[in-house]
Amino acid sequence: MDERFLEGRTALVTGSTSGIGLAIAQALGGAGARVALNGLGSHEQIEAAVASVCQAGAPQASFLDANLADPAAVETMMQALAGWGPADILVNCAGVQHTAPIGEMPAATWDKLIAINLSAAFHTMRLALPGMVGRGFGRVVNIASVHGLVASVNKSPYVASKFGLVGLSKVAALEVAGAGSRDSGGVTVNCVCPGWVETPLIEPQIAARADQHGGDREAGVRALLAEKQPSGRMSLPSDIAATVLFLCRREAHNITGSAIPVDGGWTSQ
Ligand code: NAD
Repeated sequence: MDERFLEGRTALVTGSTSGIGLAIAQALGGAGARVALNGLGSHEQIEAAVASVCQAGAPQASFLDANLADPAAVETMMQALAGWGPADILVNCAGVQHTAPIGEMPAATWDKLIAINLSAAFHTMRLALPGMVGRGFGRVVNIASVHGLVASVNKSPYVASKFGLVGLSKVAALEVAGAGSRDSGGVTVNCVCPGWVETPLIEPQIAARADQHGGDREAGVRALLAEKQPSGRMSLPSDIAATVLFLCRREAHNITGSAIPVDGGWTSQ
């Protein structure tokens, strides 16, 4: 298989200053795509992320600054992207988490999680999909979660946002299903639904479990996995990136509207 199959393509990966998004940006760059990064972080963190994507093989990498909680900022980011190179690949990966029972969930936290985890993806898709349809090729990959397929306690806005993201992706997939051809690669919209992945996002949940085991972090990780993820193994961000990369291949033209679990069996139970 051609390892540089994304030469000449342009990608935007939101939430790519850290964790899964950064690994996806590196994987797309490694396959030859020009990559626009986005996310929060210090100047040094952003510079290091952009440099790592170039080092992975991207012919060009650029940072598009936008707080995705703000729809106007998303629109400005998408205008800047259109000027840099029309988006052939859009990966909505930015996401935040907050755990508390519904009765204790701050209303502002609900609004924030829905805005970043769900509404931002709507805004990037509504602005990117028409161009993809016109060009006959496009890939939208939304990083949902097992929590887009099944629920867990204390995650009301997170689960609602991820179920919403899965539903939104299915609607979009249907709307653009007939665009392009088998040769051009068509336009597809899918979700990837990870179980536990080793990133900063889940550190507070690991810390809470570690506290129940005398501060032993490894015991905390084992307890989290034992509860839900039958493989007993966490994914690495690069494992999730490999699935996203496959969805970007021309051969994946008929995989659309799917929500692909990468969860060690979590959602098979
Ligand atoms: P992470 O905290 O390492 O990365 C999150 C990214 O989102 C960062 O780049 C951050 O700067 C960005 N971000 C947060 N708020 C933003 C905002 N307002 N505007 C722009 N960017 C913003 O976490 P991660 O684990 O890599 O999470 C990436 C995605 O994967 C999220 O959507 C998350 O829900 C999903 N996910 C993670 C896991 C896991 O176990 N880590 C499991 C399932 C799904």
